[in-house]
Amino acid sequence: MKPETHFKLCVFALLSHNTVDVHVLIVEDDQPIATSLILGLTAAGMSVTHVATGKQAVEATAYDIMLLDIGLPDFDGFEVCRQVRLVSQVPIIMLTARADEIDRVFGLESGADDYVAKPFGLRELIARIRAVTRRLTIQETKPQVDLILGQLNIDAQNRKVTLNGEEIFLTAKEFDLLEFLATSPGVVHRRNDILERVWDTQWYGPTKTLDAHIAALRKKLGNPGWITAIRSVGFRFEEPK
Ligand code: CA
Repeated sequence: MKPETHFKLCVFALLSHNTVDVHVLIVEDDQPIATSLILGLTAAGMSVTHVATGKQAVEATAYDIMLLDIGLPDFDGFEVCRQVRLVSQVPIIMLTARADEIDRVFGLESGADDYVAKPFGLRELIARIRAVTRRLTIQETKPQVDLILGQLNIDAQNRKVTLNGEEIFLTAKEFDLLEFLATSPGVVHRRNDILERVWDTQWYGPTKTLDAHIAALRKKLGNPGWITAIRSVGFRFEEPK
């Protein structure tokens, strides 16, 4: 097993006051890809830990976001994702070389927050990392009150959701999506507006990500009536009748 390698270079973070020092765990067994990720992300002001196996990824702690390759030498990224989700809601972005949608959606269903298809541009990847981690950072500095809709309680401060008194475990993006929709119950949100607000203003990928997250939320809420699809427009959130 390759030794765990740590890299930390925060010079750029010090030069740029609006850059948050995000600690990224890179899970990638392809050394050239890992090296370019390490260089690119540290240059963007992030601190980086690199591991090359699924086992090391599952055992790793104290990072803000995981970049997870699917093809790993011991077990695959989907399995890593499932195992991490048993104990943590840390954001996960999957790096996939498989282009078909089924694998991408499967990646989301196993608990990932987003995916980036290889080959990817570093700028796009950094934008995705910022988008996924930004809300977590804002959350820490902003006191908030709970959102309550019937038996659903959304504790934005602690990013905790309960329904009928029982906690529902959501991924970071599922939480962001639920929080966004639930802030204005009964309002129809356009798909593009949701993608811009919950994912990133620079989003230009397919909207499959949104559908997969809506499906996951409906399943976890236990009643499809919470989220109504408005054909060709978007989605509306409300307490089921
Ligand atoms: Ca690989």
